[in-house]
Amino acid sequence: MGGIFGAVSRADITVDLFFGTDYHTHLGARRGGMAVYAGDTGFQRAIHNIENAPFRTKFEHDLNEMHGNMGIGCISDTDPQPELVRSHLGSYALTTVGRINNAEELVNDIISHGGHFGEQSGGVINQTELVAALIDQCDTIPDGIRYAQQKIKGSMTLLLMTKEGLYAARDYMGRTPIILGHKEGAYCAAFESFSYMNLGYSYVRDLAPGEVVFMTPDSCERVMEPNHQMKICAFLWIYYGYTTSCYEGVNVEVMRNNCGALLAKRDQGIDVDYVAGIPESGNGHAIGYANESGIRFARPFIKYTPTWVRSFTPAKQSVRDLTAHMKLIPVEQLIRGKKLLFLDDSVVRGTQMRNTVEFLYNNGAKEVHIRSASPPSMFGCKFLNFSPGKSDMDLIARQVVRSFDGDDRYLHDYCTDNTERYQAMVDEIAHRLNFTSLKYHLLADVQKAVGLDPDMLCTYCFTGEE
Ligand code: SF4
Repeated sequence: MGGIFGAVSRADITVDLFFGTDYHTHLGARRGGMAVYAGDTGFQRAIHNIENAPFRTKFEHDLNEMHGNMGIGCISDTDPQPELVRSHLGSYALTTVGRINNAEELVNDIISHGGHFGEQSGGVINQTELVAALIDQCDTIPDGIRYAQQKIKGSMTLLLMTKEGLYAARDYMGRTPIILGHKEGAYCAAFESFSYMNLGYSYVRDLAPGEVVFMTPDSCERVMEPNHQMKICAFLWIYYGYTTSCYEGVNVEVMRNNCGALLAKRDQGIDVDYVAGIPESGNGHAIGYANESGIRFARPFIKYTPTWVRSFTPAKQSVRDLTAHMKLIPVEQLIRGKKLLFLDDSVVRGTQMRNTVEFLYNNGAKEVHIRSASPPSMFGCKFLNFSPGKSDMDLIARQVVRSFDGDDRYLHDYCTDNTERYQAMVDEIAHRLNFTSLKYHLLADVQKAVGLDPDMLCTYCFTGEE
């Protein structure tokens, strides 16, 4: 995935940028970047690998070295950003979050007209550099952003900083959010709405799909009209958005509580000792389920977070395997001899869930029932760099379908929750992953839990419908 934050102020912005960007760390694990602009020093930029150390540790030194009254920052799982550009549109810094499925075609088109790109290892083109090249095809920055939005297949949300101010542009279909905040003499734009709260900003509004605004310390003006269609990613609420964030006015934790309650309503008569969540996103769903069902909420295992916040990838496979295991600490009194019901955001590949269930049985659990807060993941996401299930055949549901029929001719039936084929697929997944029972959420209930018009939500990974 990735997350972005930017701010423009009459005062120095570096501290706001540092903390505002840091609050997006849950959205990516590979690189962090910050760029600032000041009249006396021009553009300054720092990019670091954050795979094995937190953003704050890596950027602590830069915080003391950088200064400016404007800045943009990112957490990126892909290319090093922000990109610094000098073109006929002037000098600017650019940071992006999204996915370009037709990058090869766009690159070839630009090269055939005399453009060029930096060569990277493996022949990969820097996505943010490609977006800059698209913007540079036009005579103004707003026109260039709209041109990029229209050319890109996938999604693209971005922040662009010139010497005069900051542009914020939301993806044309609004798959990812941008939220505007304001405090005296300053504006900010963020992927996560909670990221600016402790910095003294108040909520202004969500940017509309495709909308572009230009911000200075004293103004925030629309420079490109919005698209009237929206397809915001449903998984923002179900899984990867931060608990305290709101998108389109809907808080993540509240949606998860609603989601769990709706699951409990159609799960009458279940006999278990405790309801629990697979941390962290499963907890909000589990609290909703427990409150609705009256079954006690418990935490039968805890993730040891103090030293395991970042990914840790030792060279030896045996140590890597042990690492996943070392994060989970059981609470034996809540597991041994108990019938447990766990809520998770989704069952995508199933590998991690199989290991967790084995861990619970090894610690004496009598039964492990699983409830997924989303419908079966049937299609890999083609709009975002979303790690769970990049390709269809990574998905356990699709593997089961293939093992039943040898092909996808009945796929529509498997995507429909009241068919025999759907039930057979769910039973087989439960069998393969060693669950006592498994139920998935209904798409209609997920839509209800969010509460927006269903047409505004992207649910492609459950239905295959765009
Ligand atoms: S396909 Fe799924 S993960 Fe991707 S944007 Fe749509 S809802 Fe989100």
